[in-house]
Amino acid sequence: MGLVDYHTHTPLCGHAVGSPDDYVMAAAASGLAEIGFSDHAPLPEHLREGITMTESQTESYLSLIESTRRNAGEKIKVRTGFEVDYPLHPSFDARYFTDPRIDYLIGSCHFIDEWPFDHPDYIEEYSNRDIDEIYKRYYELLAGLILAGKFNIVGHLDLVKKFGHRPRRSFSGEIRALFRSMVHGDMAVEINTAGLRKPVKEMYPSREIVGELFNLNVPMTLGSDAHTPEEVGYEFIKAVEMLKSAGYRKISGFEKRKRFDITL
Ligand SMILES: [Zn+2]
Ligand SMILES: [Zn+2]
Repeated sequence: MGLVDYHTHTPLCGHAVGSPDDYVMAAAASGLAEIGFSDHAPLPEHLREGITMTESQTESYLSLIESTRRNAGEKIKVRTGFEVDYPLHPSFDARYFTDPRIDYLIGSCHFIDEWPFDHPDYIEEYSNRDIDEIYKRYYELLAGLILAGKFNIVGHLDLVKKFGHRPRRSFSGEIRALFRSMVHGDMAVEINTAGLRKPVKEMYPSREIVGELFNLNVPMTLGSDAHTPEEVGYEFIKAVEMLKSAGYRKISGFEKRKRFDITL
């Protein structure tokens, strides 16, 4: 069983530590077959402080991953990605959507109308807004992200639960509609284990959503959202157990933006 960890960061984002070489060593030591780097693609200047690299750092990021791949040699496969914010900003150059050096792009929503709802410093905004409206707006944005057709992987699908705020009504209708729009693409959803390290203490997405994804034949992949080398492959045994209990026998890898299957 060769697992992949496709969601990891580098110090270029300003809130991760450790060199990519250390992430690779950690990945190889825990028996992963592949590690992919997906650092935060540049946000516009007024939003990015301590969150993403700058526009002028994207090329040095790509060279850094290239040299990390050379250093890794035959030990482990190293993939190149970005975690890109949706809605899209011109600060992430559109040419990267067709750049042959890139293996995959994760599409993630961290902002609801410029409110960084998953940032611990802005958590009080949850009490200023109606929780159902927050969820509604979040899943509207996610629908746009999926329909944009520019991403290979949907990042932390139900991130809006991060701090434990639960909606009053069910959003399963909205979530099912998202998945139906996905079935026509070749996108995968990641099991992101970082939620286990956050107040919600659950993976993204929930077991219930993973069951729905299986019924709709949506491919899955794995990401730890590591911001330190120690977090690489975090709780992947639990993630694989959840996938198998939902019926999955395969996960997805990506090479040059093309999806392939990996048997669990
Ligand atoms: Zn981050
Ligand atoms: Zn993210």
